Amino acid sequence: MKDRVLGTVLLSFKTIAYERYVPVYVKDLTVDAYSISLSCVPLKSYEELLKRAKSQLPEEKGSGERFEIPQMRAFRIGVRTIINNFKEVAVALNREPRHLLKYLTNEMATAASFEGTRATFQGKFDQNTFERLLNKYVDQFIVCPVCKRPDTRIIKEKRLFFLVCEACGARSSSKPV
Ligand SMILES: [Zn+2]
Repeated sequence: MKDRVLGTVLLSFKTIAYERYVPVYVKDLTVDAYSISLSCVPLKSYEELLKRAKSQLPEEKGSGERFEIPQMRAFRIGVRTIINNFKEVAVALNREPRHLLKYLTNEMATAASFEGTRATFQGKFDQNTFERLLNKYVDQFIVCPVCKRPDTRIIKEKRLFFLVCEACGARSSSKPV
């Protein structure tokens, strides 16, 4: 007799405190007054099928479930504020350092320069200012509004900007910095 899938049956595996709906490939079904006997795919092969099915799904890209915003390390010299790891932060966010720099200088209403790995801002700013603005930047220019993942890039078409998500494929309108 050819195997047929008759649906799902709740199987309880009390010994290992395990309960789950599994597809059952029925080979033989016997019903009498007291018992129903099913010959079905054993749990182990079910797990293997599940594993195989999962491995065939498109691979999840990205850094993982939790997205940690890199921290900018600010210190002041006279009336200037320097971020030594500026490039590192931009690279971690997968953005051009100049894009991030432009955003920050607009928000802080100041001028800044970027050289090598560091950015130098005119004016005295504290760590909190950078953290707050970096969070805003991530919300506006990094995180996909659909799936909330950070694996995105910005593209420009004609005069419009779009945030394209590598994880879910969504394309959301964005704005210039
Ligand atoms: Zn997405």
